[in-house]
Amino acid sequence: MDYNYLADLLFPDVTLTPADMEARYPRRQLPEGAKVTRFAPSPTGYVHFGGLFPTTVSERLAHQSGGVFYLRIEDTDAKREVPGAKEALINTLAHYGIVFDEGAVIGGDKGDYGPYTQSKRREIYHVYAKQLVRDGRAYPVFTTEEELAAMNAVDKKAEVKAKDWHEDDGAQREEMLKWREFTIEEVEAHLKAGHPFVLRMLSDGDPDKKIKVTDLVRGTLEIPENDRDEVLLKSDGIPSYHFAHVVDDHLMGTTHVVRGEEWLPSLARHLMLFRFLGFKPPKYLHIAQLLTTAVDEDGKTVKKKLSKRDMGANLDDYERLGYDPICVNEYVMTLLNSNYEEWHAANPDKSSRDFEFSVKKMSVSGCLFDMNKLDDVSKNMVSRMTADEVYEKTLAWAEKFDPEFAGILKAHADTARAALGIGRGGAKPRKDIARFDEVRGYIGFMFDELFERRDEVPDNFDKADVAAAVTKYIDIYDENDDQTTWFDKIKSLAAELGFAPETKLYKKNPTEYKGHVGDISMFLRIAVTGRASSPDMYEVMRILGADTVKRRLADYVK
Ligand code: GLU
Repeated sequence: MDYNYLADLLFPDVTLTPADMEARYPRRQLPEGAKVTRFAPSPTGYVHFGGLFPTTVSERLAHQSGGVFYLRIEDTDAKREVPGAKEALINTLAHYGIVFDEGAVIGGDKGDYGPYTQSKRREIYHVYAKQLVRDGRAYPVFTTEEELAAMNAVDKKAEVKAKDWHEDDGAQREEMLKWREFTIEEVEAHLKAGHPFVLRMLSDGDPDKKIKVTDLVRGTLEIPENDRDEVLLKSDGIPSYHFAHVVDDHLMGTTHVVRGEEWLPSLARHLMLFRFLGFKPPKYLHIAQLLTTAVDEDGKTVKKKLSKRDMGANLDDYERLGYDPICVNEYVMTLLNSNYEEWHAANPDKSSRDFEFSVKKMSVSGCLFDMNKLDDVSKNMVSRMTADEVYEKTLAWAEKFDPEFAGILKAHADTARAALGIGRGGAKPRKDIARFDEVRGYIGFMFDELFERRDEVPDNFDKADVAAAVTKYIDIYDENDDQTTWFDKIKSLAAELGFAPETKLYKKNPTEYKGHVGDISMFLRIAVTGRASSPDMYEVMRILGADTVKRRLADYVK
C-alpha cells in the first residue's frame, strides 16, 4: 500500500511535518541533571488528596535539580470537564506550595512549549498522526453506514468507542486483525461517504515476549510486549491519553513522568509509540495508589483504595477543616520518604522543602492514609509554632470559615494570643491543636461570648463542699500571687474543707478525707472555665483577670 497516499487521504489539511514541530519546540537548554516534570490532570473540578503525591514528587524532582515543573491540562475527555476546574485546581495546589514554573497557569500560558492545554494542540497531534500513517505504523478504522444506522446515529462517539477492544478477548482481537485489512479504494469510498474514522497504531509486539523496563520506584520490570492496536485519534480527531502523552512529553521535554500505577499496564504501549515516533522515552515513576482502611462485610479491617467518597479524599476539605498546609505537606512527606520523619526530628527548624527528597526511599507497595496520623503530625507541627503564628493562622482560617469566631479573636486579640501561649515553648509543648477549627473549642471559654457551662462536678461530691470551695476562693484569689502562692492557697482551702492538701496524703489514708487538692482544683476549674479540662489554671486565671475569675466563681454558686 502507498502509505504516503493514504496519509494524504486521511489528513489532507496537514502540511506541517515532525521536523517543523521539532523546530518549533527545540530541546531545552538546561544544566546537566536538571529534571523536567509535569502535573497533567484532567480538569474534573476535584483534586484528590492522592494528587498531592505525584505533584509533590514531580515538584521536588524538578526544583531540587534546578529543572522545570509545568502544568499541562489534559482535557481530551470533554465529558469529564468542569468549567472553572483549572483555576480551582491551580489555587488548591498553590495552597500547598505546589507552584508551576510554566504551563497552563491562571491568566494564560507561561513558557515556550505551549499550548499547555491538550484541546489546543490538535494540529500538533495530527502532524504526528499523519507521520505514523506515512510510516505504516497507524491505520484508520471506519464506522460504516450500517453501523451508524444500527446506532441510530444516537451517539456517534459512543459507537466509535464501543469499537474499542480489550485484552483477553479473542473475538475482539480477531476483529482487530480484520480492521487491519483494507484497500485504498475502501478508504476512498468511506471518506467520500463522510464516514468518520478512528486512527489506531499498528502494533508490532508479541505478547509472548517480554520487554525490560526500568521504573525508578519499582526497579526493573519485565512486561509483555504490547499487541494492542491502541486508539491514537478518536473519530472527532481528538487524541487518546496514550498518544497525547507521548507527543506532549516529547515536545515539552519532560525527563521524568510521575504518574499513578494505573498507567503501568499501558506502559508497553507508550514505549512502542515512542519507538514508532523516534522519540527518546522519559524516565517513569509509577506511584502506588493511596490506600485507606475499611471494615468489610465480615467485620474485618481491609485495605482499599482511597476513593472519592471517602473522608479525606477531597483536598479542598483540608483547608475548610483548618489543617495548615504545612502540616499536610509534612504528612505527605512522611508517607513519601521513609527517612523523612527522622530527618525532621533532627532538623526541627527546617522546612520540608530543605529535605533531600529521594526516589529510592519511596514505597513501592503504596501508602496507607490515616487521618489520625495526620492529626498527630499536625499537632506536633502546631505545637512548635509561636502563639502569634497560631493566632494569625487561626484568624485567617476563621475569617474564611467561621466569621463569628474571627470577630471574637479580633476583639480580644491579647487574650487569644495569651491563651494560645499557655504551655507553648519549652521541650514538651502542649499538643492540643491539629486543626484551626479546634481552636474555638480549645480557648473559647476564655471569651464571655463563647463561655458555656459544659461539664459538671461529679455527683459523688457534696454540693455544699463544692459551693464552699468556690465561695471561699472568691475571697482569697489574688491575681498578683505567684504560682506557688496561688497553689498554696488552694492547698489550704482543701485542708480547711476536709480535703487532703497533697494527693499522696489522700492515697495513704483515703477514708480520712473527703477528697484531695486535685478535686478542689477541679471544682474551681469547672466554675471558672465551664469544663473539666483546660490549659494550666494558674495561667488561665491570670489571663482572664481577677474580675472575670471572681464573676464566674460567683455566678457558679448563685
Ligand atoms: N491525565 C492523566 C490522569 O489524570 C495524567 C497521567 C499522567 O500524569 O501522565 O490520570
